[in-house]
Amino acid sequence: MKRLATKLCLGLWLLSAVASAQELPSVFTYPIGNCTLSLLCESQQKANPGILIGASEEILKTYAPDGTFPNAMNAFLLQTPDKNILFDTGMGRKLFDNLATLGVAAEKIDIVMITHMHGDHIGGMLKGDDKAFPNADVYLPQPEYDYWTNPEIIAQTPENRRGGFHNAIRVIESYKDRLHLFVPDRLGEKAQPILPGIQGIAAYGHTPGHTVFLVETEKRKLLIWGDLTHAMAIQMPHPEVAVTYDVHPEDAIRARREILEYVEKYRIPVAGMHIPFPGMGQIKKAEGTGYNFIPFQ
Ligand SMILES: [Zn+2]
Repeated sequence: MKRLATKLCLGLWLLSAVASAQELPSVFTYPIGNCTLSLLCESQQKANPGILIGASEEILKTYAPDGTFPNAMNAFLLQTPDKNILFDTGMGRKLFDNLATLGVAAEKIDIVMITHMHGDHIGGMLKGDDKAFPNADVYLPQPEYDYWTNPEIIAQTPENRRGGFHNAIRVIESYKDRLHLFVPDRLGEKAQPILPGIQGIAAYGHTPGHTVFLVETEKRKLLIWGDLTHAMAIQMPHPEVAVTYDVHPEDAIRARREILEYVEKYRIPVAGMHIPFPGMGQIKKAEGTGYNFIPFQ
């Protein structure tokens, strides 16, 4: 079995990932109105529950009986009638092969929407020192920009953990001529679309500006929820479980609960950057305070 020793998320991703024995496709396409949303999966792996905060022995025994849980690293491509819109870029290792599978060259990406600036979401933004997407406008949540460029926060961060800040600043600098900062709406607020059919919604906690994107086209909706979850097998039945690289775990838990309640109530399908293949599906209420995730077929 191929061993993928992977360190993600600012080097804080504490697990080493082992490729799943079952090789799954890395692209999956789902229609939304007159658009399509495609999963661009970079890796699928079993992850170590050591990254979880608040998962009891009982929870782990029930939902991670073999001592692991399934995890993936995804980006998504929304193709509208006239635009190619990328949501995050993974580490950038397999992104361009996945785009090629869909017949989309990097030059043909018109827009990149960023949920947050962890390394496994902006890793594909640069090729060496150059823009990987030379013709793209980049949309970044203002509070996310404020966090990663704040000199005081950087100074307070131990030097060996500043790599993520440097990466984020490199991306911001490289795209500064095409960078659009926006303030996300609050969940349920009347839509102030960033672009027609795309609303940014605050889901702060995982990072201080972590943002999810509600896509609406021809009355069909889908929520691209970034890192609202990392461990579907555990955080669906137990949304109160956080992860060690949540900057503010309590806020991350609150955002997860609110958004789960919202998408379940309005039957809005979801797509997530760490949801295992096919990376998208429907949320249903389960017993107690938890949820079930029904992946698309
Ligand atoms: Zn993250």
